Amino acid sequence: MSEDVKTTAAAPARPQGDRPARPQGDRPARPQGDRPARPQGDRPRRPQGDGGRFQRRRKFCKFCADTSLTIDHKDPDMLRGFITERCKILPSRVTGTCAKHQRSLTTAVKRARVLALLAFTPLHHD
Ligand SMILES: [Zn+2]
Repeated sequence: MSEDVKTTAAAPARPQGDRPARPQGDRPARPQGDRPARPQGDRPRRPQGDGGRFQRRRKFCKFCADTSLTIDHKDPDMLRGFITERCKILPSRVTGTCAKHQRSLTTAVKRARVLALLAFTPLHHD
């Protein structure tokens, strides 16, 4: 019984010398050291932050930058800069508006829509 433990899951013992030895000398020996060794970690590493193909300008909240600018639902021309051509409100991740101003902007756009200063949808034009 104790003898069996050694050869449990082993497949039926393959005759050792049966397999034809792989011809080692057939392939042309790879020239050692000829290949330009890829230097480890030498890849052009990006400098910290976003270094893409092109530099993207830093987004900022217009209303925080310019405190004289006010969000007014009676000013559709200003609000038009924050809606798409399909009359949807642009997300703050696109415009860079901060959360506080995005909230009042959203309210202003919705009020302007009700007052018919802005369109709900471009299809409503006659
Ligand atoms: Zn802001």
